[in-house]
Amino acid sequence: MKHIVIIGNGISGVTAARHIRKHSSNKITIISSETDHFFSRTALLYIYMGHMKYENTKPYEDNFWKKNRIDLLRDHVQSVNTKSKTVTLLTGNSIEYDILIIASGSKSNKFGWPGQELRGVQGLYSFQDLERMEQTTRGINHAVIVGRWVDRYRNGRDASVKKNCRHDVSAGIGILE
Ligand SMILES: Cc1cc2nc3c(=O)[nH]c(=O)nc-3n(C[C@H](O)[C@H](O)[C@H](O)COP(=O)(O)OP(=O)(O)OC[C@H]3O[C@@H](n4cnc5c(N)ncnc54)[C@H](O)[C@@H]3O)c2cc1C
Repeated sequence: MKHIVIIGNGISGVTAARHIRKHSSNKITIISSETDHFFSRTALLYIYMGHMKYENTKPYEDNFWKKNRIDLLRDHVQSVNTKSKTVTLLTGNSIEYDILIIASGSKSNKFGWPGQELRGVQGLYSFQDLERMEQTTRGINHAVIVGRWVDRYRNGRDASVKKNCRHDVSAGIGILE
């Protein structure tokens, strides 16, 4: 039996794990530093708006993983040694693998703008981003959104963000106040 280790419990890592399980009885371990369980990243916006709760964004019941013999590990992979076929984790533990799948996704980009490290300037990609944004935007009066969502706000598709959060949304580059 081979040990297949997957870095990342997003849609890519989870889909890989499900298909491997469908076709083999190999040992599967998914490692993620973000959350214990897979959740729909695209729903982060709806959690922020108060339309959904985190629990509602998990496509699988928590017992799905045990039932399908997919081990979940909450930790951060710090390094991979392809010679010894080992991954080293933040906690100091290491895990051996036969096959390693890297499904580590992406993160918000920053472009070296002055002030980009200030409180209230952030992306919204991870669960930790959501938690930070919920804290920093509480009670604010003005938000500036950079990127694709600008059109969604402008067109009123997500007008409830404006209503619920008392944000005055405008296009451009700037800082949440
Ligand atoms: C708010 C929002 C709305 C979106 N809406 C859409 C949409 O409508 N349609 C669409 O197609 N796409 C949308 N996307 C993009 C889509 O969510 C991503 O393309 C998709 O989630 C990528 O999946 P993934 O599994 O490749 O990576 P991710 O979902 O990024 O998962 C990777 C995981 O790996 C973990 N990880 C990374 N490095 C390590 C490490 N070293 N150790 C341990 N764990 C690690 C990360 O923490 C993360 O949990 C949206 C994204 C966001 C943020």
